[in-house]
Amino acid sequence: MRVLLVGSGGREHAIAMAIARSPKLTELFIAPGNPGTAQYGKNIDIKVDNITDLIKFAQENHVDLVIPGPELPLVKGLTDACNAVNILCAGPTQEAAQLEGSKSFTKIVCDAANIPTAQWQEFTNCDAAISYLKTQTFPIVIKADGLAAGKGVIIAADFTEAEQTVKDMLGGSAFGQAGHKVVIEEFLTGEEVSLFAFCDGETAVLIGAAQDHKRIGDDDTGPNTGGMGAVSPPPFFDKAAQEHALDLTVRPMLKEMSQRETPFRGVIFAGLMLTDKGPYLIEYNTRFGDPEAEVLLPRLQSDLLEILFNLSQGKLAQSEIKFSDQAGICIIMAAKGYPGTPTTGGVISNIEAAEALPNVKVFHAGTTMNNNELCAAGGRVLCVSVLHDDLAKAQEIAYQAVRKIEWKDGIWRNDIGNRALRK
Ligand code: ATP
Repeated sequence: MRVLLVGSGGREHAIAMAIARSPKLTELFIAPGNPGTAQYGKNIDIKVDNITDLIKFAQENHVDLVIPGPELPLVKGLTDACNAVNILCAGPTQEAAQLEGSKSFTKIVCDAANIPTAQWQEFTNCDAAISYLKTQTFPIVIKADGLAAGKGVIIAADFTEAEQTVKDMLGGSAFGQAGHKVVIEEFLTGEEVSLFAFCDGETAVLIGAAQDHKRIGDDDTGPNTGGMGAVSPPPFFDKAAQEHALDLTVRPMLKEMSQRETPFRGVIFAGLMLTDKGPYLIEYNTRFGDPEAEVLLPRLQSDLLEILFNLSQGKLAQSEIKFSDQAGICIIMAAKGYPGTPTTGGVISNIEAAEALPNVKVFHAGTTMNNNELCAAGGRVLCVSVLHDDLAKAQEIAYQAVRKIEWKDGIWRNDIGNRALRK
């Protein structure tokens, strides 16, 4: 099978590694890829949102299956464009990707399908939103409707902050098109986890669960990032609890999407709050998480390419899907300055020494080759991932591996996994 994988992060490196194990693979292209994905296939210089060129390349190179990594090409209609030229695509259509692209759409689907989620209202008018806020208790959550790269959610502590946020979002230009509509919702408390499943329109098969660490600093301090590390599974959220959460928050969504004639095919990532009333849906993402893919996919014992090929045709039942029961942890090494302006260009070495430790894999996220040297080229640069029977041991090995890597600008959190281990 000839495959075009779209993306350039650690997630795509992890997907490429899993795909490369498949006996069904004949050629793998990655657009645009990174030095890590280049170990498994041919990187192609096309941006993830250049749908026209991606399709042209896929046609000219007789690609059988397109695998989208990030959300942007999905929201821009990559799957629809593939369908139009009879190329299979292992991701949702533009309409189904609204589950990630529009927060109010997700809420409408949740209500129609009886999925537990925070109570909510949507507003396009500032005065109406402020009148509503006057009737609410605080803290309260205010979300820009569209994609805002993780920055469109504000937890307002009191009325004054909430009022200002609504004015900024609906009145100003700070959030662009994403902020022309806001969702105001009830503040939930509990432990936050992410649940992943393969979906083929009708059926959902559990991949696993993970817990991300969003803030830049130890003990969840400082600004939000794309994710600084993850553990899988969170020890307090076992397989039975994951299946139960899938029944409550994913399977009813599939049924609802199917009834709307926009079936969801792809990987669903359900962000959940484990409240004292059970799991509540916070958000859907319509693709693997990054860094969660880097701890989930190394545990996959089955053929990812076959699974995605079957998924894209609504035939997931034909695939064997097995994961090892090991614990996984991954630690992001970011560049000094991230999540503001990262210091790029620094030389990175000694990855082989890190990978010589048991069950360690170093995924590339923001790297580039410069004069035959591996250099930092982004905010999140490397992802050090470890599997072990015991999470505490996995954590110990992961930090040993991080310290083996030589890179003067590297920063990382020192407490990834502590929260899960404490529980
Ligand atoms: P963006 O659209 O900007 O990329 P996002 O998709 O990351 O944002 P959400 O996942 O909906 O947005 O929210 C981000 C974070 O805000 C969540 O991970 C969670 O910690 C917090 N959050 C969101 N909704 C609630 C809620 N109802 N109660 C408590 N915390 C919440």
